[in-house]
Amino acid sequence: MKTVVLKFGGTSVGNIERIKKICKIVSSYKKKKFKVLVVSSAMSGVTNDLINKSKKISDNFDTAEYDALLSSGEQISCALIAGQLNHIGIKSRSWQSWQLPIITEGPHKNARINNIVVKNLKKFLGIGGVPIITGFQGVNKDFRLTTIGRSGSDATAIMLAKFIKADECIIYTDVDGVYTTDPRDHNKAKKIKKIYYDEMLEMASLGSKVMQPSSVQDAKLNNIEIKVKSSFINKTGTSITASKKDFSNQIITGISSTKSNAKITIVGVKDRPGVAASIFEPLSKNLINVDMVVQNISLDGKETDLTFTIKSEDLKKTEKLIKQNKKISYKKLSFDRGVSKVSIIGVGMITTPGITYRMFQALASKKINILVISTSEIKISVLVSARHVKKAVAALHKEFKLD
Ligand code: ASP
Ligand code: MG
Repeated sequence: MKTVVLKFGGTSVGNIERIKKICKIVSSYKKKKFKVLVVSSAMSGVTNDLINKSKKISDNFDTAEYDALLSSGEQISCALIAGQLNHIGIKSRSWQSWQLPIITEGPHKNARINNIVVKNLKKFLGIGGVPIITGFQGVNKDFRLTTIGRSGSDATAIMLAKFIKADECIIYTDVDGVYTTDPRDHNKAKKIKKIYYDEMLEMASLGSKVMQPSSVQDAKLNNIEIKVKSSFINKTGTSITASKKDFSNQIITGISSTKSNAKITIVGVKDRPGVAASIFEPLSKNLINVDMVVQNISLDGKETDLTFTIKSEDLKKTEKLIKQNKKISYKKLSFDRGVSKVSIIGVGMITTPGITYRMFQALASKKINILVISTSEIKISVLVSARHVKKAVAALHKEFKLD
């Protein structure tokens, strides 16, 4: 008998009608003689609503209570699912993280699962029951409730699949898979049938909202194959996998773009060892995430220019931190808030020469100026003016034969 973990996202359990619908999906796996476990998110909007309530009390709401508050959303959806399954004649019960327990490590709001005790789940599966497990939450060694980061139910499902040794882990969501680029922005986007963990990790980190980035990492580390499918329409989704067999010789798998970045250039910085560290130290202390960085080689060894990108919303704070920074001296600071990062992603680029050239050429032919470039083994990112993003994505989508 095969074991499957089904994870349902917030929109998939967003109202009672939808909960009835996903219970039919659960029932279809039961009919196919699967042992079924369900992990659910909170109903859509619930977690955000709880966050807003905490903010009305304080922006520094006690983090342990924040987790106790936020984890309540999953209790509701799981009880409703278990209730509906019992109603239609499928034996089911809900489990909250502390009842298993799901043991986490690390800080409140951003803990990581390191063990799930599955003994009682196995017993229940053994008598034909369907356990419904709260996503997103866990308990720490002090037995306090924790949460594992926004969209964390993905990670719960993946770790559950690991500890229960499931044959499959299926992420049911409101899109029918992972696309070559955001289908809302580009009408030629196509669904990807199979994608490697590393590619998915890049796509997720670069803003594809389909899965939580750290959950993809969990899947990779534990070799859990995932399928992403829609809970609304019955279509084959996307497989996220490590296996190399039956991949086409596609070089680029996907293209992603960010909406709002800001570029900062510090001109004429005194060049000496430690200057970059001095610039970034206060940013890191203030949790400002620096993304692309370029430093020019200083010809005379005295001065250099340094450019980096951050999220637009961090611009004011960053400007202030640089101006206050007594450890650096420079001639001029300049800012550009209207920039976006466009990236091409694919493991095929490791073995195929000329990809960088083709990318730059495709952008040049559309008269799109490249501001900053950064590369990794399986990704090339360029920074362009935000008004050129759509055009850039379209040109690259075509160039790399994804249309
Ligand atoms: N309910 C949580 C959130 O909104 C977890 C999840 O949806 O996966 O972030
Ligand atoms: Mg989600």
